[in-house]
Amino acid sequence: MALIIQKFGGSSLADAEKLRRVAKRVVAQKSQGNDVVAVVSAQGDFTDELIAKAKELTDIPPKRELDFVMSAGEQISAGLLAMTLKNMGFGAVALTGWQSGFLTDSNHGRARIRRLDTDRIELELSKGNIVIVTGFQGINRYDDITTLGRGGSDTSAVAIAAALHADKCQIFTDVDGVYTADPRIVMNAQKLKAISYDEMLELATLGAQVLHNRSVEMAKKYNVPLEVLSSIECQPGTIVKEVAKLEKMLIKGIAKDDNVARISIVGVQDVPGIAFKVFSLLAKINVNIDIILQSIGRDNTKDITFTTALPDMRTSMDILNENKDLIGFTRIAADDNISKVSVVGAGMESNPGVASKVFEALFEAGINIHMISTSEIKISVLIDKEMGSKAVNAIHDIFEE
Ligand code: ADP
Ligand code: ASP
Ligand code: MG
Repeated sequence: MALIIQKFGGSSLADAEKLRRVAKRVVAQKSQGNDVVAVVSAQGDFTDELIAKAKELTDIPPKRELDFVMSAGEQISAGLLAMTLKNMGFGAVALTGWQSGFLTDSNHGRARIRRLDTDRIELELSKGNIVIVTGFQGINRYDDITTLGRGGSDTSAVAIAAALHADKCQIFTDVDGVYTADPRIVMNAQKLKAISYDEMLELATLGAQVLHNRSVEMAKKYNVPLEVLSSIECQPGTIVKEVAKLEKMLIKGIAKDDNVARISIVGVQDVPGIAFKVFSLLAKINVNIDIILQSIGRDNTKDITFTTALPDMRTSMDILNENKDLIGFTRIAADDNISKVSVVGAGMESNPGVASKVFEALFEAGINIHMISTSEIKISVLIDKEMGSKAVNAIHDIFEE
């Protein structure tokens, strides 16, 4: 008997027919004598609809209450799936984040799991029940509901798999695996049989929505092999695991992130300590910074440009403007009409020339690059948003050759 964790995304649960299909997937494992914990997301775009409801009433919803509202979708799916399973004659129980023991920090909207007390899940499994857990949510030490960040149900599933030393952690979604690029953007994207944790972590962090980046981080830390597969078709998906060096390909995939903003602080004084002042202010309000570019000083002033996640653009500008006298600058400019396109591959570290191929592809497609950032296994470029899909295709083509 094995313990299987199965996670189902929103599109796989969108209506009654899909819920029944998911129930059959769960039952298929249970009928083979396995224990099953199913982790569910909200149905379809329900989470987006809940956020839209909040924004109809207030531009910047209070984070605690937004989590309260946003987490509601998962509870509906979990209850509905448990009912469906019971109706099929199986013992099943739906549990919320707090009932399942998810204790998080208090960073509403992007909380991190501090502890997972699996007593209740284990008790239900020992009774022979199929356990359905709401993904994406937990509680903090004040018993307030928190959420783990958009797409966070993947992380809930991996956390359970790690805590219970599950034999398998399957992530069912609306594509049948991880591809070399988003198959919705690149028609000839190739499905990967396997991908390393590091490569998948880069792809997920750089915008490949198929897995929540923190789920990959956690899977790597606790050595949980993941399988990403279709909730509709019954065929093998992509395995995310530690891949031996020999298998490392030059380029593993291309990701696009539209959820980015670029902020420029123009005319800062060219003296020591400015970067420290700017980025410590942003760190204080929990804003993550990605690419940073500082221009060469001229007439005793310079510009500092950086990127953040789009939802952090307004608050970042506000805190910088509030501290204008402390930092000393002429003005702040922001641009939310940009995309970050990234190429990822562990083979890059030992192969020169990848960057020049990327730049060549973009040049031939007539795409202007605003900012560049590189690491051992990735190259990211910042470009105009309307060029995003064209850029992904152009880069994909050149590496396919
Ligand atoms: P779920 O609701 O199941 O969590 P998501 O919408 O979060 O599903 O993630 C699946 C989507 O991720 C796919 O529909 C696909 O468009 C997108 N995606 C982006 N990059 C990739 C990639 N490299 N491989 C597969 N899918 C990708
Ligand atoms: N329902 C949540 C979201 O839309 C969590 C998830 O899908 O994983 O972000
Ligand atoms: Mg998802």
